[in-house]
Amino acid sequence: MPESTGPESTSPARSRLVVLAGPTAVGKGTVAAAVRRTHPEIWISVSATTRRARPGEVDGVHYHFVTDEEFDRLIAEDGLLEWAVVHSAARYGTPRAPVEEHLAAGVPALLEIDLQGARQVRERMPDALMCFLKPPSFEELERRLVGRGTEGPEERARRLETARTELAAESEFDVTIVNTDVETACEELVDLFRSGTSRVRS
Ligand code: 5GP
Repeated sequence: MPESTGPESTSPARSRLVVLAGPTAVGKGTVAAAVRRTHPEIWISVSATTRRARPGEVDGVHYHFVTDEEFDRLIAEDGLLEWAVVHSAARYGTPRAPVEEHLAAGVPALLEIDLQGARQVRERMPDALMCFLKPPSFEELERRLVGRGTEGPEERARRLETARTELAAESEFDVTIVNTDVETACEELVDLFRSGTSRVRS
């Protein structure tokens, strides 16, 4: 377990790696975006993916959009800290060098990845703090997935099935944050960089 200095600690942010994982549509991306907006001192990894960019997504900002051949090359060169096929659709992976460089420079780093990837990071970087983001309820998760409107009914059903399995993985994680509202979840996540614990544990 990570060292905890307690919620009242005033010690400066420790350099560490926090992995944020959780079921699909729980709001990992939204919470990570809130961290990016309000805590620029925390570096957020940009993943490589073979999926196509959605409208509004910018290459190099939201993802590095790569071809299958480029992704194969990244794997062959051991350029990825972890990678996974997500939702049986596309491959996603965390470029290894930027993570190592930021940590070596003392910059706190956040990975927002799926459960399969989180397990790989735990193996390769056992000091990483594993944080599970969960919805207030399964019904709320379903509502968010429908509301997001980025998937058709078939894809939505597939993602909900995955989410059901993923929710059961909570016990593998060091800390759980319930994503009732984005700002609170964001602050709880940022707390982890300072103390290795969250003010509100569930
Ligand atoms: P989306 O296609 O909606 O952007 O993301 C789909 C899923 O891929 C999300 O659950 C997200 O957390 C996951 N994901 C994004 N980047 C990575 C990555 O680098 N590695 C892994 N394993 N999963 C990722």
